[in-house]
Amino acid sequence: MCAPSFLRTVLTRSFDDGGTVMATQETAIDGRRDAVPKVEKFDTIVIGGGQAGLAIGYYLKKDGRSFVILDANEQIGGSWRTRTWNSLRLFTPARFDGLPGWPFPAPGWSYPTARETADYLEAYAARFDLPIRTETPVSRLARDGDRYAVKCGERRLEADCVVVATGFYGKPSVPDFASELDPRIVQMHSSDYRDPSQLRPGGVLLVGAGNSGADIGMEVSATHRTWLSGRDKGEVPIRIESRKARFVVPILWFIASRVLTVKTPIGRKVRPHVLEDGAPLIRVKSKDLLAAGVERVAKTVGARDGLPVLEDGRVIDVANVIWCTGFRQDFSWIDVPVFGEDSEPMHERGVASEPGLYFLGLDFLYAFTSENVGGVGRDARHIAKHIASGS
Ligand SMILES: Cc1cc2nc3c(=O)[nH]c(=O)nc-3n(C[C@H](O)[C@H](O)[C@H](O)COP(=O)(O)OP(=O)(O)OC[C@H]3O[C@@H](n4cnc5c(N)ncnc54)[C@H](O)[C@@H]3O)c2cc1C
Repeated sequence: MCAPSFLRTVLTRSFDDGGTVMATQETAIDGRRDAVPKVEKFDTIVIGGGQAGLAIGYYLKKDGRSFVILDANEQIGGSWRTRTWNSLRLFTPARFDGLPGWPFPAPGWSYPTARETADYLEAYAARFDLPIRTETPVSRLARDGDRYAVKCGERRLEADCVVVATGFYGKPSVPDFASELDPRIVQMHSSDYRDPSQLRPGGVLLVGAGNSGADIGMEVSATHRTWLSGRDKGEVPIRIESRKARFVVPILWFIASRVLTVKTPIGRKVRPHVLEDGAPLIRVKSKDLLAAGVERVAKTVGARDGLPVLEDGRVIDVANVIWCTGFRQDFSWIDVPVFGEDSEPMHERGVASEPGLYFLGLDFLYAFTSENVGGVGRDARHIAKHIASGS
């Protein structure tokens, strides 16, 4: 390569990540650098450093592999730090919120907050010295011969294996008619809701009657007239923080992690319903909503004169709308023929149809608990074994 005279070419090795910088990196003596993008090579690249990325990182580290975890966020903590409301507490007790190698550091029957969970993830990465790079969004994943090429900014990384662990908060899912609502109505998706101070005085319509809608409904109803719109999805028949739950929750966890899997007929029967409809209400019960003055109404189907319209024709005059309508996966940056007709990745227990490619943390990837903090470790171990086998 012909370099200008003020450049010096250096070949460096990236010791901190265990990867190797294979291409020449031109470093300017006067401080200017990177005339050509650096190419770093690893055995495995993990994209996403939430609980799923950290869990697979734990096993890759244990197996002594060269790998790196890339995460778009500024700080470790996955979506727990960036995409949830301030008062969120987990539905799963701390005893079922541990990642491999280190249980959640809280009393087993306490229910951690989102913030505590994010802090646990950050401490977990430090404890196992996982090679994670924050503020590193991946914009493209493609095949290059028999390896994978990952693009983040100007950098290019290559690996034999890639684990996609980017979570299910790809893109907030909001109906098109949201744009027809009066601009004076404050609108936000549940992942942007933090606390009631974001709302205007006046009524709040929560669109989507799942757990997010019910939890946020309980909070905002203290200060605003509140409507919860959508089909009743039923509820778990116990109070998760009661003493009785200490007997029942372990049984439910066993069923959710061992019985409801893609390996059992009942698991395969339940899976499409879980993917389509989500879970029943877990912490909040219908009678709590009633007592808090939350009015349950039909599904929201459109807009009329700038106001939301329900399936039964009723128009709700509100000042605020919170879309608790879930998320759409966003894999548009993956340029590998691994998606089926339904646009979902084709995989078996996270092992994709394209050799060397893996998905982790997907909803019901293997079991009902696959996307849970305490459930992702088992799927991670399975994928790590597959990577180690070299098949
Ligand atoms: C409201 C709510 C309540 C929940 N409550 C519970 C509960 O009580 N108990 C429980 O066990 N589970 C619960 N879950 C489910 C689950 O634990 C979380 O969804 C969890 O955050 C999933 O972890 P993850 O690592 O798969 O994804 P995430 O936490 O979303 O982490 C993915 C990471 O990937 C990064 N990323 C994304 N795209 C890119 C890219 N292109 N390049 C680089 N980085 C990228 C993001 O920055 C993020 O840090 C809840 C989920 C929700 C929505």
